Amino acid sequence: YAAKHDNCGFLLYSESQEQSSRAHLTFKSELRQAIENDELVLYFQPKIDHTTARIMGVEALVRWQHPKRGFLPPDQFILTAEQTGLMQSLTHWVLEKALLQCAALHKAGIFINVAVNLSARNLHDKQLPANIARLLDKTNVEPSYLVLEITESAMMADQASALVILNQLDKMDVTLAIDDFGTGFSSLAYLSKLPVDEIKIDKSFVMEMMSDKQALVIVKSTIDLGHNLGLKVVAEGVETLEAWHALTEWGCDCAQGYLMSKPLSAADLMRWINESSWAEGISANSMKNLA
Ligand code: C2E
Ligand code: MG
Ligand code: MG
Ligand code: MG
Repeated sequence: YAAKHDNCGFLLYSESQEQSSRAHLTFKSELRQAIENDELVLYFQPKIDHTTARIMGVEALVRWQHPKRGFLPPDQFILTAEQTGLMQSLTHWVLEKALLQCAALHKAGIFINVAVNLSARNLHDKQLPANIARLLDKTNVEPSYLVLEITESAMMADQASALVILNQLDKMDVTLAIDDFGTGFSSLAYLSKLPVDEIKIDKSFVMEMMSDKQALVIVKSTIDLGHNLGLKVVAEGVETLEAWHALTEWGCDCAQGYLMSKPLSAADLMRWINESSWAEGISANSMKNLA
């Protein structure tokens, strides 16, 4: 690289920094193309109602089928999307695919909801509520079937502008959930004023709660706190039957975790719905319609 021979005092960064910033540029333009060319893939993880022990929804989780790097989990590219201004188009892509999948399920007689993760960036996008309204309209999904999951820290960032968007979304009758609850540093006073409907207890507490007394106390008190604020409570990271039963006993509303299912491709989700006891009777016609 030419800068190596530069002796005029303009050598601002080392070769390796140059390489890594080039790699970053490549990754960024690859991600932009991936969004445009449908290289991203949506997976769906079932959410189970504790009262009926049946599926009531799915969470849409994005992956990237990268031509060279293989199958990438979201933690390897969500941050890049955030930092490079691609979050708006990524979220739009995810919302559209998730709503299309939800519409297909409804068409097959399976009336479950779909949850999509939003990032802090999305809460500063004034177009977001109108874009979501348009996508709901286009895909013919009732707003009440869409859940938007927003982390505690994203809700806390730039509170005033986030609140405007959250209130607009609330008025549209979509469901708002606080994701990873318990991991941020939110003020309960502020959170209790947000128009949210649901909290999701972070999986770190749920996964530890059968072996760690403190995690157990946190999970139990969060369920009570949520209910006392009039919110639905979801536990993520449910990996054992023991945890499932404990959560049922404590009155938790909904559970998500590897015990019931890992995130699945759309085709595997259909198979799971037809075969799993967690989906038994969910639609009398599902076999016929999905065949
Ligand atoms: P999240 O929204 O909290 O999603 C739950 C994560 O926990 C998922 O990881 C899921 O596979 C994992 N998980 C679920 N049950 C269990 C369990 O029983 N045990 C364990 N060990 N893990 C479990 P995933 O798919 O890798 O997603 C990680 C994070 O990436 C998500 O956390 C979310 O914050 C973010 N993400 C995923 N898709 C999107 C997206 O479309 N948009 C945005 N903005 N963020 C996304
Ligand atoms: Mg989530
Ligand atoms: Mg509401
Ligand atoms: Mg979470």
